[in-house]
Amino acid sequence: MGTMLEVRDLTKRFGGFTAVDRIGFDLAEGEILGLIGPNGSGKSTTFNLIAGALPPSAGSIKLEGREIGGLSPTEVCHLGIARTYQIPRPFRKLTILENVALAAYFGANRLISRSEAWKRAEDALTLTQLPTDPSVRVDGLGAAGLKKLELARALATQPRLLLADESLGGLDEQEMDQAADMLSDIRRERGITIIWVEHIMGVLMRVVDRCVVLDHGEIIATGLPQEVAHDPKVVEVYLGT
Ligand code: ADP
Ligand code: MG
Repeated sequence: MGTMLEVRDLTKRFGGFTAVDRIGFDLAEGEILGLIGPNGSGKSTTFNLIAGALPPSAGSIKLEGREIGGLSPTEVCHLGIARTYQIPRPFRKLTILENVALAAYFGANRLISRSEAWKRAEDALTLTQLPTDPSVRVDGLGAAGLKKLELARALATQPRLLLADESLGGLDEQEMDQAADMLSDIRRERGITIIWVEHIMGVLMRVVDRCVVLDHGEIIATGLPQEVAHDPKVVEVYLGT
């Protein structure tokens, strides 16, 4: 399997503060990579750089050999990268299906018909186990439902690479297990490559192939889940000693 993404010396400075500091990693096609680290370690900023929401201060991001750093979010989306947001922000007055259909329509890399957008939305809702009934509104969704809706909106754009930001936030144990299984199924059934960001290790560790651990914007460990979990630097960061 080929390399999907190559990140090299990627850096983001906000004024004098360096939020992401010369990070580098490779992502193989079909892989699930866990990107973990405490709050404020630069995880969401890394996603913002890959997704085109922020231009890098330095370094490169290559998607299948092509430099994508500094492209707009729309351009990056059309190249097949979709992301979820840590804090879901659906259109609350619309139905679930309408929210996902809008993402399908505007995220498609070519002009698609409304019925095609509808079809892609239904498919994404089925994948995320949300109701496809066109009358169900967003208002009634709890934390787990909103996280699924975030995933469905990203999947409706038919990405090759999914950036999932804190899909477990606000979920209980059982919901966390379900969310982990869902990401695993999405990769297996659709062949979608995934970078999964969490600030806790937990259930993520049983699903990801490899982990990259960030602390203060720098990579402190990379490797198999069981390797990084026992890495002294990672243990120190997580135990705060
Ligand atoms: P994480 O997702 O790992 O919790 P973030 O990537 O959101 O961390 O943030 C990393 C650091 O960069 C934090 O200290 C945060 O306050 C800072 N930061 C993030 N975005 C901005 C911004 N737009 N302007 C200034 N500082 C920012
Ligand atoms: Mg974050």
